[in-house]
Amino acid sequence: MNYGFATKCIYGNGKDYDKDKTGAISFPIYQTATYAHPAVGESTGFDYSRLQNPTRQQVERVVAALEGGVDALAFASGMAAITAMMELFQPGDHLITDGDLYGGSIRLFDRVSEKNGITFSHVDCSFVDIESFIQKNTKAIFIETPTNPMMNIIDIRKVSDIAKKHHLLLIVDNTFMSPYFQNPFELGADIIIHSGTKFLGGHNDTLSGFIVTNSQELADRLRFLIKTVGSGLAPFDSWLILRGIKTLPIRMEKAQENAKAVVEYLLKEPKVLNVYYPGIEGTKGYEICRSQARGFGSMLTFEVESKELALHMLKSTKLISFAESLGGTETLLTYPATQTHADVPEQIRIRNGITDRVLRLSAGIEDKNDLIADLEQAFSSFEKEYNKE
Ligand SMILES: *Cc1c(COP(=O)(O)O)cnc(C)c1O
Repeated sequence: MNYGFATKCIYGNGKDYDKDKTGAISFPIYQTATYAHPAVGESTGFDYSRLQNPTRQQVERVVAALEGGVDALAFASGMAAITAMMELFQPGDHLITDGDLYGGSIRLFDRVSEKNGITFSHVDCSFVDIESFIQKNTKAIFIETPTNPMMNIIDIRKVSDIAKKHHLLLIVDNTFMSPYFQNPFELGADIIIHSGTKFLGGHNDTLSGFIVTNSQELADRLRFLIKTVGSGLAPFDSWLILRGIKTLPIRMEKAQENAKAVVEYLLKEPKVLNVYYPGIEGTKGYEICRSQARGFGSMLTFEVESKELALHMLKSTKLISFAESLGGTETLLTYPATQTHADVPEQIRIRNGITDRVLRLSAGIEDKNDLIADLEQAFSSFEKEYNKE
């Protein structure tokens, strides 16, 4: 069935979920490790939950439908998904990755994958000549767009043309936009990664990760990997992500509306030096983002006057929590320098613009006036503290 996006969020590509014929509207949680076989050599299609579990299969079907992929695999976390994906590569292989990635991905590549004989070139894919970094042993390009946390926009179609010309896999971590705003397969990607912990789950309560592919050959290799490495998503957590996805479209719209309101406010705040959000007209990524995505998302980054002010903001907001993560119902403020990007070498961190004056905000779905009032009181209490001295 060719359902619309919001319908797919609830049913996937079809309403075939009522396996046990009870009529349950909510997909059941199959909390089982193993399954009885009808006879020797026969299987119900389910043998052992490391390989297959009906609840996990349902969330995989829904995510595959949302990205237009042939298959999706659900893992215990985004990092578990990326770790399993790296098993597609061999010692001696080389990957090109964007220089401004999720900190955990950089840590995996530099501290684990390198040890396993895979090498990397971290390059700014939003403006450098990627082609000049391609070596004989290059196998893939790995990007996120918008980048984390600097919100640079990478032209997915352009990178895909280069990848196709050199027979490289293009892997896109689509966590920041979610499938609601951006579908990288339509732009030439081969593999899509999601940290389902973020927008898909959407409630800051469950970890999960996905690998989505649009090739059956890759899907088969990945199915072998999930069964072998054993980091598949648990039944209950699969159910929580299924429930989260049902409201993805309305959460994304509301969170984006809030992000836009916060951006407007921050642009007028004199103590804010820079605001990074792809939806600001006239900025570098605006037109590219418009051409490849259906929105600008709800993530934004801003630079304040001083490190002291940044630290003050983190301890002074009352509604907004100072916490890692993003994409949930609650607005969170993150300090990339010591949180998400603490493991990125300082020199690279500063070069990417992640100074100790930079804060990242993930807009939730609260009332936007309450978010702005909270930021306002935090900024003005710094003034009071400062004037006292
Ligand atoms: C959070 C995140 C990850 C890692 O996902 P976990 O679920 O935390 O393991 C990977 N990529 C991006 C862009 C993320 O934001």
